[in-house]
Amino acid sequence: MYKDIIEFLCDAEVPYIKNELLTRHTTFRIGGAADLFITPKDADSLKDVYDLCKRSGHKVYVLGRGSNVVFSDDGYKGIVISTENLSSVRIEGNTLYAECGASFTQIAVAARDASLAGLEFAYGIPGSVGGAVFMNAGAYGGQVSDCLSQSTAFDPVENKVVLTYGDDHEFGYRTSIYKKNPERIILSAEFELKPGDFDSIKATMDDFMGRRRSKQPLEYPSAGSVFKRPEGHFVGQMVEELGLKGYSVGGAQVSEKHAGFIINKGGATASNVAELIGIIKEKVNKAYNVELECEVIFVQ
Ligand SMILES: Cc1cc2nc3c(=O)[nH]c(=O)nc-3n(C[C@H](O)[C@H](O)[C@H](O)COP(=O)(O)OP(=O)(O)OC[C@H]3O[C@@H](n4cnc5c(N)ncnc54)[C@H](O)[C@@H]3O)c2cc1C
Repeated sequence: MYKDIIEFLCDAEVPYIKNELLTRHTTFRIGGAADLFITPKDADSLKDVYDLCKRSGHKVYVLGRGSNVVFSDDGYKGIVISTENLSSVRIEGNTLYAECGASFTQIAVAARDASLAGLEFAYGIPGSVGGAVFMNAGAYGGQVSDCLSQSTAFDPVENKVVLTYGDDHEFGYRTSIYKKNPERIILSAEFELKPGDFDSIKATMDDFMGRRRSKQPLEYPSAGSVFKRPEGHFVGQMVEELGLKGYSVGGAQVSEKHAGFIINKGGATASNVAELIGIIKEKVNKAYNVELECEVIFVQ
């Protein structure tokens, strides 16, 4: 199986691993093995590998830093392409350019060090630039849509690199044009920032990080907030009022520190998490008539 792909990877010297455990590549530390786990070293190779996988009809999934996904306990019966090696970042004037696999937190640090304001909110979000653009990640009043000026993506259907500018990203709460076109693979992004004062940018970032440390269960594996914020409600508050703080299914537990998080207390499975989510959704719906929607993405 995957003979065509493996031949290509060997010829092009693209790193890959067979039967790679996805617990190693997700912040939840959950998931079985991917048949093939590929880590292209540059954008051309990422594009070529993705294109070949698609054309050969293989099931393929693009993974950033795995901080918003839950892979099945049976693993991924297909190919996972990780962007982890595409991490270059460069700043020209007020523009920060980053490859898709660059750490979202690291680009906030790079902007701060160049005294550029606008990415403070990104500090502490444990995703990649590609994942952040895909999700329109945000925190503490800021989000990707506030400062993303341009992104490039490879579209295997049109077989070309597509440039998307500002509003054309169709951003919404935790969504972007890429969620509507999941075939596209984001290659890079450009953020338009504003000249600022290093000390005040740093103070804002330190404040955000302090708030995360005090409120979020960062000491345990998780995938962040499990649910999207419903209009007019706070998920953590509702879950807490229902007495579900600390409630567990197997190794998956509603965090005692922040009831909007599910943590992996050790040995949690995707089924544990799914069951716990089902219980929370049912109880919240019954008590508050609110239909919770998952922010975390389950991958089969
Ligand atoms: C402790 C913790 C705190 C968090 N805090 C926040 C927060 O404050 N705000 C917030 O918004 N999120 C938060 N998150 C969630 C998560 O970090 C973000 O959603 C992040 O943007 C996901 O990026 P990623 O690279 O990990 O994406 P992944 O989890 O790897 O993937 C998420 C989705 O993006 C797609 N994707 C990834 N890269 C690409 C690409 N190059 N091209 C096309 N599609 C791609 C994947 O296919 C998948 O569908 C938190 C998570 C944790 C664990």
